[in-house]
Amino acid sequence: MKIYLNGDYVAKEDAKISVFDHGLLYGDGIFEGIRIYEGCVYKLDEHLERLEFSAKAILLDLPLTRKEFRDAVCETCRQNGLKNGYIRLVVTRGIGHLGLTPDGCGPASVVIIADNIQLYPQELYENGLKIISVATRRINSSALPPAIKSLNYLNNILAKIEAKKVGFQEALMLNDKGEIAECTGDNVFIFSKGVIFTPPLDSGSLRGITRGAVLDLASELGYNCKEQALTRYDLWTADECFLTGTAAEVIPCVEVDHRPIGSGKPGEITKTFISKFREKVLKDGVLL
Ligand code: PMP
Repeated sequence: MKIYLNGDYVAKEDAKISVFDHGLLYGDGIFEGIRIYEGCVYKLDEHLERLEFSAKAILLDLPLTRKEFRDAVCETCRQNGLKNGYIRLVVTRGIGHLGLTPDGCGPASVVIIADNIQLYPQELYENGLKIISVATRRINSSALPPAIKSLNYLNNILAKIEAKKVGFQEALMLNDKGEIAECTGDNVFIFSKGVIFTPPLDSGSLRGITRGAVLDLASELGYNCKEQALTRYDLWTADECFLTGTAAEVIPCVEVDHRPIGSGKPGEITKTFISKFREKVLKDGVLL
């Protein structure tokens, strides 16, 4: 496997970052998770735009232009003969001193890994996922805007551990008002009384690329769709629920907090989105 590391394509064993890199010392950096389907990098420009916004928000100077990032991502896939898989693009603050300040750090390091990923087994796409809300809250947006896809995922990791400890694969995270924010690596949607709902970004969700694609699809298909603050009650009493994310795509959620959602089986709207999303991914990418 060849890894892109600051302009070179190096063997996995040689892809190493300094222990003085602030990405390691402080989680000071940003990342993107991107999919490639049949040789097409899915929504690459949308991911690169989100990366640029994350960089701007944390005052990190990106060392590559949009075109250079685009070329590096595609070339990493080519170098690995990857036509279907997952791409992890990481930008760290770079090498610095032990203090917190990024002054004197840099240049930023860029790593691109192109590999396979399977987040959930096929069985869960057919039968649905059961999730549980956890005590670990999504970080308040005045502390750290959740829209920044930073390298610091401890908050989500703690939520995931909490869920796993009680036998669930995924955690539902609330914001500090008790509204639904998102799951640890996926956005949340419900279908209720004929309307599709997802929490707005200011409830504490990442501006998911898959979330955006599903919202676009929903309006193309003529569904009434609303970005609205949701409570756990809204999920418990919904007709359908599904999660969206780059790795998971669209996955049905059939139980929340021990309450079956709707019939307790993946619903028709969810199934429609799973298949329509899979059809669309082939049409919405940058060809290698
Ligand atoms: N929320 C969080 C916290 C995430 O890390 C992700 C990405 N895995 C998502 C939502 C989904 O975003 P996307 O569709 O862009 O993968």
